Amino acid sequence: MRFEVSKVLDAIEGRLSTDPALARAVVDLSEIVRYADLDGGRPASSVRLGLVVDALSRHVAEENAPVYVVAPRGLLSDTDLTSNERMVIRRWADDGKVEVVPKLDDRVYEVAELLGVPVLTRGRGDQFRDRRPWVDEPGRLLAAVAGEGGGAVLMARVGRGESPRPAERSQLGERLLARVWSCPESNCNSFGSGGDPDSPFSDMRTFTSPVAQPPPALRAGVPTCPRHGAKLRDAGPRPEVEVLSVRIDGVIRQRFVVSADAPVVVGRAPEGGGGVMLGQWLTEDARKWISRGHVQFALRGKGELTVQDVSTNGSGIRPSGSMDDDERIPLKRGETRSLGAADVVELYAGVNVGRSKMWATGGLVQPQSVMAEAPTMALRKFTG
Ligand SMILES: [Zn+2]
Repeated sequence: MRFEVSKVLDAIEGRLSTDPALARAVVDLSEIVRYADLDGGRPASSVRLGLVVDALSRHVAEENAPVYVVAPRGLLSDTDLTSNERMVIRRWADDGKVEVVPKLDDRVYEVAELLGVPVLTRGRGDQFRDRRPWVDEPGRLLAAVAGEGGGAVLMARVGRGESPRPAERSQLGERLLARVWSCPESNCNSFGSGGDPDSPFSDMRTFTSPVAQPPPALRAGVPTCPRHGAKLRDAGPRPEVEVLSVRIDGVIRQRFVVSADAPVVVGRAPEGGGGVMLGQWLTEDARKWISRGHVQFALRGKGELTVQDVSTNGSGIRPSGSMDDDERIPLKRGETRSLGAADVVELYAGVNVGRSKMWATGGLVQPQSVMAEAPTMALRKFTG
């Protein structure tokens, strides 16, 4: 069976994130690529990351659930992968989409602890149990195993399948992620500032914005660049962020981050990039009602989240998510209001935006697969 590998990898790329506010799980790529039992294929294949990404989306019942991928540097020269796969992983690393470290050590478990996300692994974390006793808590380690009818499903390594309390960031994680960190290596794309703007190479690399910096590694208690091993300098407080979700007819389609630095426009097809585009999920009536840019979210000091209507037809706020139409607060074009903790913004009936922590489950039974982006592969699977 041959694969349209490039198309699958493109689709997977959209689900990679080292942003602490968005990543929903962390994986060691060198482990995942060797799950040969998932597809009966080559000893190593980067396409298996797609199976695991799909399994995570189904596990959280949400579209577009991003994965924090850590790869040991050795994987970039692992000849069990094709040269194309190695090239793509190297590009992901250069663009800061995956984290490449000289040696893995317990980096994957460190990230899981600092961010409060599960590790997708078939291991039991035995070698880290002394330092990280939470590996024995239900739901903190999830193993991707072959599911019925193809694909992968995530199984908790501990517990009897009960829904565990979602993990939270460790206190250390909260402290580290409240600061912006700076790496002395001039072209560090995770903890750099973009280097010399006059350099001819300055625009050739993608640098992570301070708001989205991954967590530092701790070496003997010292915040350290996971890639370069260099001691990081504290470059000041990190801008506050709030994570919001787009929820359409009860299904969470997309999470996004609003920071004090960067307001975000949500609409049918916001102009100028950076906005959240809803068009693909809307009914025809909703598409007619919702403007290209419909509402703008911003974060002011002390965590005050505001919404401004920038639409033609207007929007509304449902206080504490109330479905009572008498309580709905209409928003006219140009109007700005601050949002209470559980308030939901309504762009059109059933098209909502609110704080992500309000909605425990994504409500989606069959999230879109990254593997579906490879038509010829799907075809071959069925025609044999
Ligand atoms: Zn660095």
